[in-house]
Amino acid sequence: MAECIFCRLAADPDFKAIYSDDDVIAFDDINPQAPTHFLVVTRQHLATLAEVTNDHLLGSLFEVANRVARERGIFEKGYRLVVNSGTDGGQTVAHVHVHVLGGRKLSWPPG
Ligand code: 5GP
Ligand code: ZN
Repeated sequence: MAECIFCRLAADPDFKAIYSDDDVIAFDDINPQAPTHFLVVTRQHLATLAEVTNDHLLGSLFEVANRVARERGIFEKGYRLVVNSGTDGGQTVAHVHVHVLGGRKLSWPPG
C-alpha cells in the first residue's frame, strides 16, 4: 500500500509519532480542527472501521486515543472521538483512523 499516505507515515522510521506500538501510531492532524487534534491509526492497512474485525486492535484504537488525550491534557475537560467511514461519512483517507479532538467546546451535531 505504498500509495497510502498513512501506510507511508507508519513505515517511515524518521516519522515523529506522538505514540507508537506494534498495533497503532498516533500523530497530530496536518489540518487541525481544534486546539488538540490528533489521529490514532492502525499500522495495518484497513480501509474503514468495518474492516477492523480484530477486537484487540479495535480496543487499541480507543485505548490509545484515551491515553494520548490524557497526555495532551484534554482528558479532564472532555474531548471527542470521531471515525469517518465512507463517502457520506466524510472519510478522505481510506486507512482507518480515529480523530481525537479537544481543547475547546465542540458543537453538536456535526455537519
Ligand atoms: P478523514 O477525512 O479521512 O476522516 O480524515 C483524514 C485526516 O487526515 C484529515 O483530518 C487530514 O487533515 C489528515 N491528513 C491527511 N493527510 C495527512 C498527512 O499527510 N499528515 C497528517 N498528519 N495528517 C493528514
Ligand atoms: Zn494504508
